[in-house]
Amino acid sequence: MGKINHYESPGLSDFSYWYLELMRITEIRASQPPTPGSPADWRTQLGQIVVEVKTDDGLVGLGVGGGGVAGIHLVETVLRDLLVGRDASDVEALHEEMCRHTSFYGRKGLVVMAISGVDLALWDLRGKAANLPVARLLNPNVDLDLELPTYSTVFDDEDAESAFNAGHEAIKLHVERFGDQPDPAEIANLVQRTRERLGPDASVMIDAFARWNIDTSLRVAEAIAPYDVAWLEEPIQPDDLDGYAILSEQSPVPIAGGEHEYLADGFKTLIDRQLHAVLQPDINWCGGLTTLIDIYNMAQAANIRVIPHRGCEPYALAAIAALDSRPLAESGRKWFNCLSGFPEIRDGRIQLSNRFGFGVELRSDGG
Ligand SMILES: [Mg+2]
Repeated sequence: MGKINHYESPGLSDFSYWYLELMRITEIRASQPPTPGSPADWRTQLGQIVVEVKTDDGLVGLGVGGGGVAGIHLVETVLRDLLVGRDASDVEALHEEMCRHTSFYGRKGLVVMAISGVDLALWDLRGKAANLPVARLLNPNVDLDLELPTYSTVFDDEDAESAFNAGHEAIKLHVERFGDQPDPAEIANLVQRTRERLGPDASVMIDAFARWNIDTSLRVAEAIAPYDVAWLEEPIQPDDLDGYAILSEQSPVPIAGGEHEYLADGFKTLIDRQLHAVLQPDINWCGGLTTLIDIYNMAQAANIRVIPHRGCEPYALAAIAALDSRPLAESGRKWFNCLSGFPEIRDGRIQLSNRFGFGVELRSDGG
């Protein structure tokens, strides 16, 4: 991704040229506004954070990252000290510096979640400075009116049918509640009932939320394979790469994962080893849009599909619409009712905002 401000320099001194390009960062803040109604799991316990980056020309970039109070501390000390006074338009260089500066203690997890929020705020600024939606920065030909297909995550076959009838063309069954050592037949029954309700055309997926071991994963995969399951998501712990190598070789159902992986280097390993048929990076955790672009480039070159985690939220949605020829967006959860500008799903489809940047704003009433 090149710089957006392509000023012509003839007639200007070098100094004037750079002066025109400069969008100096004056302030960086992070907060965790109240989000009543958020689901009660680790992502909200630890907390999604909102990052604001202000510049000397009065623009404010808004990003969402993770890491809770610890993430806020990192943004408001280490990252703020690194970035205040710098040119906000040089997003890729700032991303690289943030990663290098924190690499001794933060190559994965919480630190990268916080960096993601800053990166997205910088991309938001880049869009606002260019008077363009971020999707258009990524792809000048993107169709902002396109209605993108979505999938819905549900817990039983009855809800699967409701979601399908509401227009979602794909349905994911969350099966974490069956525990660490589920009876494969029980899960197969659920998948079979779902398939019978939805008919042959719907895509059906299942998500194990990293609860199983390799043996259980293979036994479940074999039990559900007759029902044409599009993917088995995160069956084992994200760091068990050797385990994923076995599953990718032996599972009759394609393996998905990556929502708990970080930075381009992390994804490069997954891609080089061909551990997943579908990668699901989370743009608000994995390193932001700068990282997600790298992931798309690497995965597309290796013929691996990218279906970002929580794809219906505006940050991931911009990338899905701009970079993917087979877009599919995951329907979101209400983590960010402190923000406005999230597009609604209608009849199972979702449309990009045509507002500048990511089109997101902090609600003045606090959500
Ligand atoms: Mg998942």
